[in-house]
Amino acid sequence: MKKSLICLAVTETTLGKNLNTILKYRNSIDMVELRADFLDKAELPFLHKFPRMTDLPIILTIRKKTDGGKFVSDERQRRQLLGNGIQGNYSYIDLEEDFTDNDFSKRIKKKGVKIIRSFHDFSGVPHDLSRRIKALAKSPGELPKAAVMPQSTSEVYRLLQCYKECDHMDKILLGMGTFGFPTRILCSSLGSYLTYCSAPGASAAPGHIDPVTLTDLYRFREISPKTFVYGIIGNPVMHTFSPCIHNPGFARIGLDAVYLPFHVDSIKDFMEVAEFLDIRGFSVTIPHKENIIQFLDKKDQSVTQVAACNTVVKEESTHKPARYCGVNTDGIGFVEALKERLNKTSLDGLKVTTIGAGGAAKAIVFALVSEGAEVLIINRTVHRAEKLADSFHCAWAGLDDDGLLKMQDYSDIIVQTTSLGMEPNSNMDPVPGYTFKGHETVYDIVYKPEMTLLLKRAQKAGCSIILGKEMLLGQAFVQFRLFTGKEYPDKAGVRILL
Ligand code: NAP
Repeated sequence: MKKSLICLAVTETTLGKNLNTILKYRNSIDMVELRADFLDKAELPFLHKFPRMTDLPIILTIRKKTDGGKFVSDERQRRQLLGNGIQGNYSYIDLEEDFTDNDFSKRIKKKGVKIIRSFHDFSGVPHDLSRRIKALAKSPGELPKAAVMPQSTSEVYRLLQCYKECDHMDKILLGMGTFGFPTRILCSSLGSYLTYCSAPGASAAPGHIDPVTLTDLYRFREISPKTFVYGIIGNPVMHTFSPCIHNPGFARIGLDAVYLPFHVDSIKDFMEVAEFLDIRGFSVTIPHKENIIQFLDKKDQSVTQVAACNTVVKEESTHKPARYCGVNTDGIGFVEALKERLNKTSLDGLKVTTIGAGGAAKAIVFALVSEGAEVLIINRTVHRAEKLADSFHCAWAGLDDDGLLKMQDYSDIIVQTTSLGMEPNSNMDPVPGYTFKGHETVYDIVYKPEMTLLLKRAQKAGCSIILGKEMLLGQAFVQFRLFTGKEYPDKAGVRILL
């Protein structure tokens, strides 16, 4: 399969500003799409001069508002502008599916300009997408392009089927938006002539990322049908930092693999996507950590005990359908960072208070108890503290005076797992009545902000503190080990990056 190209769509208001954008990203791109519908009116008479300003092949596009662009004048004027434009040295011109002027098309071809014949669907993935793509290439030599915006994971699967059905032909086929994002990266393995990207803050279409992120983080140029695919499923998911941990890790150990965010609304449908893309492993985040369990063929004890799973690894076998094994690395990741800080191989006999009894607390308490710690759980809703304590034979209390008193006896380590202190409630402290003595190690799993009010208070009292990002990284390092069989190669580097 041919390597896909990187096309920078430029959307500035003047040709000069567009040129500056191109120069900035010159080393990361192969071609440019001039979105002339974004240009100031005064620039339009000079369209034909633009190709001479750069050495890259240029696509001329004047997208109508109805097709997701900005051009609002009449069609006659658009044709006139396109006609003037091709007097310059454009390599391609993008004409929509419903552009039916044959004489104009012939004129374009005579000039040696290739036609990209496009259609856009912002409402979803049409059921007849493959048929429409095949019909798009109206005359020989035209490159069909379909940009569709999946509205669900099942539509992502439909889009993937379409790549397969149109496997034999040159085409540009891309999924827009958050659901479609992985298709923008996997072009060279799925089969799309190019992918589009934009400068930061100047996105020409939903889901564009900047060229440097494409080449440096996702290693777009190295992706091929042989590249192993990993990812994270969540809803929402695009904000996740996980690709910035795993992709540089893969690069450093020389593994031909890519880690992508998958916006998922149905795990059942995602499992079909996983089978299609032969996904080797994936992280699981909110809200799928519990529901994923029913789709696992094997569960680690960390999953059965905590009733939540954040890591799925595909079994290495030719078995069809693939078999998946679930692990929960939240607790192990939490404990590894703690043991590293304490410089201990076990937590045997240490007395620990865990503030909170939610999902994260469950994974943490299981890991602490497994390591031999004695744990007190205090929580606002007392019966939740009691229930969690019962499961793991811990002490419990409310987030009240009784709890604060009991904390005195469980104060080697204090773990904060509630959402108090997290932005936008960063001025909150879950235990304002507890006075730190200075001997405690205080670990707040909230990572935004990095220094919570509780940690600031603990540090002032002379306590050793551990930031929430250590757990975030710790669970990712364990995932990396499960995905690759290797230790994460640059822990210090990624810590600075995060
Ligand atoms: P969760 O299941 O919703 O649990 C929330 C916990 O916070 C419960 O114990 C809840 O008490 C308590 N809480 C919420 N509002 C409170 C208030 N106003 N006063 C007192 N207690 C309150 O959430 P989770 O998944 O466990 O996540 C909790 C926090 O951990 C979040 O900030 C999350 O970002 C962070 N986290 C960090 C990492 C990491 O890697 N660093 C990993 C996972 C989670 P009730 O039972 O009384 O409602």
